[in-house]
Amino acid sequence: MNSTKKIIVFLGAPGSGKGALSRLCIESFGWKQLSTGNLCRKHVSEGTPLGQQIDFALKSGTLVSDDVIIDMGKQWIEQEIKNTDALILDGFPRTVVQAIGFLKFFDENYEQIKLIIIELRVPDHEIIERLSARLVCSNKACQAVFSARIEKLKSCVDGVCDFCASPLIQRSDDKAEVVAARLATYHLHCEKLTSFYKNVGYVVHVIDGNRGSLEVFESFLKHVGTT
Ligand code: AMP
Repeated sequence: MNSTKKIIVFLGAPGSGKGALSRLCIESFGWKQLSTGNLCRKHVSEGTPLGQQIDFALKSGTLVSDDVIIDMGKQWIEQEIKNTDALILDGFPRTVVQAIGFLKFFDENYEQIKLIIIELRVPDHEIIERLSARLVCSNKACQAVFSARIEKLKSCVDGVCDFCASPLIQRSDDKAEVVAARLATYHLHCEKLTSFYKNVGYVVHVIDGNRGSLEVFESFLKHVGTT
């Protein structure tokens, strides 16, 4: 297996820019992104058995069970690792139990792949503003993200996706009362997760996410490199 391959784990609150950074990596280098949030929403909208099982967690902003998410992550990694130089894990692992499950799988199978942990840090008040203005493409195969507030992130035509022309909508879990629950859940797990990675010998690279997406991208590339 190519020793320059990487798996990059993104930590960061909802709305911290993990999706935007992933999109820049995909467009620039053809890397692949696992967004467990997007996969979960796809299951719910398609009404699969798994979707019915996890529907409540998504609507209430709480976490889906670790077993379900670990299986989802492992299956996706096995399927995609052959096809790209780098995999981005956006929103997975999100608890210490998930991180233990993931690292066990990683150590057993991908000894020659480099694992890099990135934390995007953005203050809570900015997260709340960003999410209240966030619009996503209603096409589940696209799920592109725009903002009704930040000029550079506005769609060219109000309410219409730049990529596939589908209508833009507000995610139900971006409503104020759910955002508060999601942020609380994030903080509850984030500190434990970063301590865990440090204890097992990984560096957690902290990037200031409270800037424009291109500045964040440049700073990210300094930590990660592209070869
Ligand atoms: P996100 O779009 O990443 O904010 O995720 C949306 C929702 O999907 C979360 O609020 C959870 O209900 C679920 N979810 C996504 N990723 C995970 C994960 N790693 N562990 C547990 N639940 C998750």
